[in-house]
Formats: sequence, C-alpha cells, structure tokens
Amino acid sequence: MSTIGHFVDGKRVAGSSERRADVFDPATGRRTGQVELACAADVARAVEAAERAARAWRDASLAKRTAVLFAFRDLVNARRDRLAQVVTAEHGKVLADAAGEVQRGLEVIEYACGIPSALRGGFSENVSTEVDSYSLRQPLGVVAVISPFNFPVMVPLWFVPVAVACGNAVVLKPSEKDPSAALLLAEWFAEAGLPDGVLNVVNGDKEAVDALLDHPGVKAVSFVGSTPVARYVHQRGSLAGKRVQALGGAKNHMVVLPDADLDLAADAAVNAGFGSAGERCMAISALVAVEPVADALVAKIAERMAGLRTGDGRRGCDMGPLVTAAHAAKVRSYVESGIAAGAVPVADGRDVTPDGEAEGFWLGPTLFDHVTPQMSIYTDEIFGPVLSVVRVGSYDEAVDLVNANPYGNGTAIFTNDGGAARRYQHEVEVGMVGINVPIPVPMAYYSFGGWKASLFGDLHAHGADGVAFFTRGKVVTSRWLDPRHGGVNLGFPTQT
Ligand code: NAD
Repeated sequence: MSTIGHFVDGKRVAGSSERRADVFDPATGRRTGQVELACAADVARAVEAAERAARAWRDASLAKRTAVLFAFRDLVNARRDRLAQVVTAEHGKVLADAAGEVQRGLEVIEYACGIPSALRGGFSENVSTEVDSYSLRQPLGVVAVISPFNFPVMVPLWFVPVAVACGNAVVLKPSEKDPSAALLLAEWFAEAGLPDGVLNVVNGDKEAVDALLDHPGVKAVSFVGSTPVARYVHQRGSLAGKRVQALGGAKNHMVVLPDADLDLAADAAVNAGFGSAGERCMAISALVAVEPVADALVAKIAERMAGLRTGDGRRGCDMGPLVTAAHAAKVRSYVESGIAAGAVPVADGRDVTPDGEAEGFWLGPTLFDHVTPQMSIYTDEIFGPVLSVVRVGSYDEAVDLVNANPYGNGTAIFTNDGGAARRYQHEVEVGMVGINVPIPVPMAYYSFGGWKASLFGDLHAHGADGVAFFTRGKVVTSRWLDPRHGGVNLGFPTQT
C-alpha cells in the first residue's frame, strides 16, 4: 500500500506531519493507499519554495513560459489514458468520463499556451504633449489552488496553467480523497521544463487549507468545493488580505417546456443527472417539467434508466460508484428522506445490482417524481445519482422556482421556441445557461463560474477572468525628455 506525500521544489517529498487519511478504490471498497495530511510547517516549506521560484519565474520571457506550456500540453495529451486510469482508480467515475475530464483540462492548458495574446496591454501615444501611457499586467507572486474530489484533474487545470502562464508560482492542495493525479501533473510539468518550485503540491485537509489561508506569502486563493467551505475560505482569505475566488456547490435545474423535443430532453436528463454518479457541480439534479409534459417525460426517462449499467468504471459501465462509503450512505439517506416526505420513487437506486465487487460504494440511478420545493431532496445539494422532478404549471412558475434557489451555478432550458429560450437566458439568475444543452460548461477561452451561493468573489475561472485574477494591472505614464524642457509647474497634471 502506497503512502502519498507532497511535491515541493521539483520533487516528491514526505512531510513532517504524522496525520494520514485513507484513499480507497470506490469500485472495490479496498483501501489502496494513505495520503499524508500536511501540517502548517509542511505548507510553509512549500510556500517558501514557491516564493523563491516566483522571483525568477516572473521574469521568464513569454517565449520561455509558452515553450514549457506547449511541452506540458504534449505530455498530458500523450499520457491522457494513464491519467484517466488514475482518476477512475481513486474517484470511481467510469473511464470514458475520466477521459472527458482530462480533455477539458487539456483545453485550459491550450488556452494558456496563448498567454502572450491574453496578457497584451494597451498603449496610447501622446496622452499629453510628448507623454505616452501604457498598461501592463503583472503576476501576483505565490497563489494557492484548493480543489475538490470530483474533478481531480480538470479543476486543478482550470487554474494552474493560467496562473503559471501569467508568471506566478503555485501551491496546489488537491482533495485528500483522490490526491494522486495532482502529483502526476506536477511531475509532468517539471518534465516539461517548469523550474523547481513554480508548482508545488501539498496534500492535506482543513489544517493545510487554513495554513494556506493564513500564510502571508500566499497572495491569492482559487478554491472549488462545497458552499459552506467556499464561503469560509472566501471570508478567511479575504480577511487575511488575499484575493479570493471561491466556487461553491450547486443545485442545477433543467426546465422542460411543453414544446420541447421530449426524446432529446429525456436523453439530456439521464446524461446530466447520472453522469459521474451525479458528482458534478454542473449535474442536473432538479428537472422542472412545465405541464402537461411531466407524465410523458418521466416515462421516457424511466425507460432510458432501465438500460443503464452501474458498476466498476473499468468495465465499460455507464455509471460508477460514489466516492466514499460515507458519501454513499449520505446519498442513500436522502433517498430515504425523499420517500418519507412523500416524493414518488420512479426508480430506486438502492435496489441496484452492480457490475462490480459487493464492497464497492454503490447506489444506482434514482428518479423521484412529484417532488416539492420544501423537500430536502430538492433543497439540498445531494451530489449523487438522484434526480428530482418538480411539476409546475407555467414558464413563469419555472423561472421563479429557479431564481428563488440560493444556488446559481448552471441551468438548462429545453424548448423549440427561440423566444422563450431567449427570455430565459435573460431572466434567469444563474451564471451558466444551456439552451437544449444540459451541461453548459464554457470552453476554456470563456470563463467558468456561477452566481449567488455558487461563487464567492468576483472573477470566474479561466478565460479572460482567469488572467485578470492571476495578475495585477499597472499603468505607466512616461515622458522622455526632448531638448525642449517643461520647467517647474506645481499644478495637478492635466492633458494639454
Ligand atoms: P469540500 O468542500 O468538502 O472540499 C473541497 C476542498 O476543501 C478539499 O480540498 C478539502 O480538503 C477542503 N476542505 C474540506 N473541508 C474543509 C474545511 N472545513 N475547511 C477548509 N478546507 C476544507 O468539497 P468536495 O466534497 O471535495 O467537492 C464537492 C463539492 O464541490 C460539491 O459541493 C460541488 O458542487 C462543488 N464543486 C463546485 C464546482 C464549481 O465550479 N462551482 C466544481 C466542482 C465541485
């Protein structure tokens, strides 16, 4: 059984903390390793290595930085299958889904390869007589990235390539549930030519997160995780004077209007509700059926669910296990509470016969109909394969329901009415909107982020927002003396 340590100053290292957490293969239920949980001293060592590296890396030319990024892109691309296998082994998602996550991460690396264009400033000649002004964007120094269990490759790659391309050094703290992929990424970045200390990985839990939030050497924090922790990270980090973007949880609604193509909508609901066992921040967990479509839609979804195979992600199944035994038990308890509250279980995932070992953390796809907004299966982010159908009488009722929800990560509307879709995109208080697209994850050159309790901070991940987050703006006003000299003038500068 392996012990998973840290990656600091260009190499794998053991920390000084005695604390460990177990890492499991969720499809077998077996413990496959133990991850070290860093203490404040371990974090400080990583931040110090990053501070030393940041001084030189900020001066590395754009040509040098992009050469490293292109080489890193090629390594990840060539080894994508291995990365996907590592994800499946610790997270449980099926291999095809893990490969999809790697692909989305690669797209952010590719975006970062174009950093010279994204970092271009402005220049104005003669803003005053013989005076020029120009703008620059400069790196912040050391930044921390703290990621959740559900995308152990993609979420670190939302931030790390952009931060590094902008000239920062990074301390990455992955989820303690699936820590191995981050270490591989750090090793491959080093192999691509990234100088020692520019990317460090510290494994750990709350203790490591708190140490990063409190360390004066860390200038900014990009966090992704559940809403209570995101709120906490934003508050504590901001109080310490850091720039913080903290992406939180979600309850994503898919609205189906009566004129929608119901086969398309049913396919989308199944894919977006049960893909990755519902452990996606963009998963659809609430299906808002605008009557009279509910009966027909529920029947079509149930029909498709009957063909889904739950099992070991390495066996070509549709859906894998949940990440831990504790999480599986929690999601099961939601199924029980849905039944107790009077929701109608159309499909009950507790009855699943998995294609996998009995000790795996299984729960099959579950569909509830006649869910009301008061039930906990509706109000809470379950983060499992549980889809709730809420029946409403009109478009207005649907949009009011979505806007009343405290979360605002993603949403989708299914309709053939362009006017209705356009109205929805305009009225809905959600950061990412799909029109006949169930999981509207923006491409790397747009920015990813929700509204309301799904994001604390101002700037979203990657794209232009990512570059803005990892840099500070500076404006230079310059005059080069020419033989005619201006003389003394104590007045406030004005344009002449
Ligand atoms: P989590 O909040 O439990 O953990 C996220 C990170 O915070 C981990 O690195 C963890 O070690 C650390 N952490 C956990 N508890 C902490 C505490 N009390 N203090 C400080 N740090 C702590 O989240 P998770 O279970 O790993 O991930 C699932 C959650 O992430 C879901 O809520 C999901 O919606 C959300 N998520 C959101 C997005 C998004 O873009 N908005 C993307 C992916 C996941």
